[in-house]
Amino acid sequence: MTKRALVCGAGGFIGSHLVRRLTHEGYWVRGIDVKQPGWGTTEADEFVIADLRDPQKAAEALTGGFDEVYQLAADMGGMGFIHSAETQIMHNSMLINVNVAEAAARAEVARYFLASSVCVYRDMQLGEGELSERDAYPAMPDNEYGWEKLYAERAVASYAREGHFQARIARFQNCYGPEGTWTGGREKAPAALCRKVAESSDGTIEVWGDGSAVRSFIYVDDLVTAVLCLMRSDIDEPTNIGTREYVSIKKLVELVASAADKSITPVWVPGPVGVQNRNFSNDRIETTGFQPTVSLSEGISRTYPWIERQVRGG
Ligand code: NAD
Repeated sequence: MTKRALVCGAGGFIGSHLVRRLTHEGYWVRGIDVKQPGWGTTEADEFVIADLRDPQKAAEALTGGFDEVYQLAADMGGMGFIHSAETQIMHNSMLINVNVAEAAARAEVARYFLASSVCVYRDMQLGEGELSERDAYPAMPDNEYGWEKLYAERAVASYAREGHFQARIARFQNCYGPEGTWTGGREKAPAALCRKVAESSDGTIEVWGDGSAVRSFIYVDDLVTAVLCLMRSDIDEPTNIGTREYVSIKKLVELVASAADKSITPVWVPGPVGVQNRNFSNDRIETTGFQPTVSLSEGISRTYPWIERQVRGG
């Protein structure tokens, strides 16, 4: 029997990569989003343009029967967006999550995936040991995006506890790769740095902070693999998805410059850097057999040429 999946946020970065993987695996996929995929046409069997803040649209999205729902729709962006659009995030993403979970429960979907974020965790000090999933509590996320994700996790978990569906909740670390947002203010650090390096004509780029903030970044193909490993596992607790490869922003600039084969001098400027340090356990997702396969250097060397082409006009 062909499995049927609904992907919410199918016009977005991770959603469109997930749609491609599911259809290649033989699923029948309905994608839903407020917009078409930014780059090229969707590979979904059916693509619906609808605003999931509307409960009626969420209910309609679920008609026809689905084995699996992947909820990735969100009003989201990089640190610049997260710190400047708090009410937008709290209002829009909360409505999307409540509506889709309720509609999935009513439609008796078997399994429900929620894309949460490591933004649910507190800030960390440099050198601090790994945070595991239970360390999200007592809760002190750095920003409202993280608080909304925690609320969504709890909402989805409560539907699962009442037996409406099985829930799989992933806390994504930063994801990057081709076809991600690269301009317009919602782009994340790897894409922003690729764009700045591609645009630089004098060998300098402005970068927020002082370069010491530490992050890890997961390549989109690896992230999609991990999503499917989690979805097919028995793990019903929130699960971190990322890599163990941590870099400073200064090192990330060097990797982008190397992929571009350019000599780049960063000019450090004040900006919304976010938390200082990130260090999460990936033990839980690794129990599924998942291991990332694309190093940061390899992933940046695949991403940079795509962003450079966009900068040059496609
Ligand atoms: P994205 O912005 O590319 O995709 C989100 C999609 O949701 C967009 O296409 C957007 O149009 C759609 N959307 C927004 N409002 C909607 C509405 N009212 N109705 C229907 N669709 C709507 O983001 P992404 O990077 O693909 O992220 C996907 C999910 O993963 C999000 O939930 C995000 O919070 C989470 N996440 C992403 C990262 C990352 O590094 N990219 C990290 C942590 C968590």
